[in-house]
Order: sequence, then C-alpha cells, then structure tokens
Amino acid sequence: QNALAGATEASVKAAVKAKETIHPAPKYIGYKAYRKAGGYELFRDLVEGRRDPETVITAMEHSGLRGLGGAGFPAGRKWRIVRNEPAPRLMAVNIDEGEPGTFKDRWYLERDPHRFLEGMLIAAYCVGIGEVYIYLRDEYAHVRELLQKELKKLQADPPCALPPIHLRRGAGAYICGEESAMIESIEGKRGMPRLRPPYVAQVGLFNYPTLEHNMETVFWVRDIVEKGPDWFASQGRNGRKGLRSFSVSGRVKKPGVHLAPAGISVKELIDEYCGGMLDGHSFYGYLPGGASGGILPASMGDIPLDFDTLQPYGCFIGSAAVIILSDKDRATDAARSMMHFFEHESCGQCTPCRVGTSKMNTLIDKPVWDTALVEELSQTMVDASICGLGQAAPNPVRCVVKYFPDEIK
Ligand code: SF4
Repeated sequence: QNALAGATEASVKAAVKAKETIHPAPKYIGYKAYRKAGGYELFRDLVEGRRDPETVITAMEHSGLRGLGGAGFPAGRKWRIVRNEPAPRLMAVNIDEGEPGTFKDRWYLERDPHRFLEGMLIAAYCVGIGEVYIYLRDEYAHVRELLQKELKKLQADPPCALPPIHLRRGAGAYICGEESAMIESIEGKRGMPRLRPPYVAQVGLFNYPTLEHNMETVFWVRDIVEKGPDWFASQGRNGRKGLRSFSVSGRVKKPGVHLAPAGISVKELIDEYCGGMLDGHSFYGYLPGGASGGILPASMGDIPLDFDTLQPYGCFIGSAAVIILSDKDRATDAARSMMHFFEHESCGQCTPCRVGTSKMNTLIDKPVWDTALVEELSQTMVDASICGLGQAAPNPVRCVVKYFPDEIK
C-alpha cells in the first residue's frame, strides 16, 4: 500500500490524461459557481449561530436518510450516537466505491463536488467533529485531482472557519470499503476489518469516536435541510421512502446512474429509466446489489428494491448497483465471476473466508454442483466469517442453487 501511495504526481497526472482521452470528464460546478448559487450558506448559518445543529439533526432523522454505502444505518441516528460520545471526535468519509457495478459516488463527485463537501461539513459541525478524513479509491485519479483543486479553493477562501480536511488515497483493495478496514488503512496499517464491538462510533479512527459515512449519504444533506425532510421522505414507491441512486449496468439501452424512488422494482427501473432491454435481449435475471447482493430471476422482478425488502429472498440492495442479465447470460457465469472476485479480495484474516472462497470456487467451477456441500460451506462462511465480505460472498452461489437450478443440473 505504501509503495502504491508513493506513486509520483507525474504518474497520477499521466493516468488522468490517459483516462480523459478515452472518456472526457463531464463539466462540473466549481467553487465560485457553487457559492454564487447559495452554496455553503447553510454551513455558514450553522457556524455563525443562525441555525441550531439540533434542528438539522432532527431533519435528518425525519427524512429517513440511510447509509447509502450499503449498510443502510439511519444517518440521523448515527449523528446523535457519535455526538453523545466524548470529544475529540473524528469523521471518515468512505469513497472507496469498490463494489462491482457501483459508480454513483464517482458520478456525483464528477459533477457537483461541493454539494458533497458542504454536506460533509454540515455533518461534521452538527456532530462536533475535530478533523475530517476523506478516503478516496486510488482508481479515481481524476476525481482526486478535481477534489484537491476544489478543496484548495475552499480552504483559500472559506465561507467561515473549517475543520482540518485530509484527503487520503486508497490502494485498490476492495476490503478497504469496509468501514473498519478503511480506518485501519487511513491509520497507515494493512486494511483488515476489526472485530466489533467496539463500534467505530465509539472507538474508531486513531481510537477516537468516529462518524463514518459513505460519500453519497452526506451528498443529500444540503437538499434535505433546504427542501425539508418531507421532500426526501415523500419520494418512495411501493410503500418505501426516499430516493436511491441506482448504478445500472448490463443489457439495458441506457445504463448509468438513475435517481429513482426507493422501492421501485427492477422491471419499473428498466422500463421507466433505462429505456428497456437492449434489442435482441430478453430480461433473464438481475443482481440487485452488486457482487454481494445475490442474483434473482426475471420472474422475481416485481420486488421493491430497498433496504430490508430483499432479505427474505437471500439478497440485499447494498449500494444499489443493479446488473441486468439477459437470455444471452448465465447466472452461473455471474456467480463464478463474483466468487473469483471475492477470493482475490479476501483480506485473508479469517479462515472461513480465506479458505472458504477458494474451496467454493473449486466446487462451483464444476459443471454439476454438489449442492449439499455448497450449502454447508455457504452456511459456515456466513456463520463464522469476521466481516461482511465472507458473510455475503456465498449469496450469488446460493441464489443460483435456489433460483436457477436448471443451470447446474
Ligand atoms: Fe478478511 Fe474475509 Fe475475514 Fe473479512 S471475512 S476479515 S475479508 S478474511
């Protein structure tokens, strides 16, 4: 990690240039334009005492905003928990965005970076944070350059007093998207998840109480306070509340980030937001939450997509990365690909995950699966792995056994 972190500025610039030649970066709202449109006024009102932090925390609680990195913990409740811990407190913003199929954080940062920074500062102020650490995945070199530039402008001409903000680079490890592994990595150690309790809200970064948030969670803070918590809470569908930024990929006409009501079904998402299936392809199945969230068949395409709604089916929405499969795909291919990914990305700390992912690959690389053994290994990994990687790794495999039995006979 240190070797990678020591990559020269010149090599980063070269990577940015190479990327921009292929995909020109979208235009973004810079510091001046953001301030001109009323940006940072909300933060200034808080710092200069015209707005009470308590009203902002209450608005967050009423909005129903939940952690959008995948865990779905209510954001307002998290603010209150950390605020009740003794100072000094720190904040860590997770922009590791390594879940396969997820690209929403990048999409927002490339377009409106200050909305994120202001939301982060509002959260930090309300919770009484001393210093903020932003952890950005190393693959987002162009975003790092953008954030460095815009942070410099913000710090050179601040709307009011700012806490120290540190921008840290990840080094390409998927596991560093797990909050405690990210904290280890920021501390300069190997990124391995911690055993909990204690939770990072109590003992986090450098052993201080830490407010940990995914980038998109704080991106919505300004809108929720300005437009009111009811604006956000009233957006859902099929009995759910709020908005979700779906990163859609696969066999649809319009892949990309689609902001849609929480609780929308995948069929509605494909028809209303993604322009339908690609010509010549019919809907076969979908991954509702990236690599870890399982695989469901098209016949189960009416389930509301949200936190808690997919658990009964052995799946979860996670960071809302929806991958659409067509009749030209096989669920077994997807499951094999995901399991090889998990084996590669396992941090190796615990045996059920380190050895389990490898054993599972041996089992599922065969054309006919020993489903009893696959299930026994899956349950062991779920029960005995330290963190979410090992616990969720069997999800796609179990889904194949349950929902696509014809593929493994
Ligand atoms: Fe590491 Fe896997 Fe164990 Fe998590 S479950 S601590 S990734 S070995």
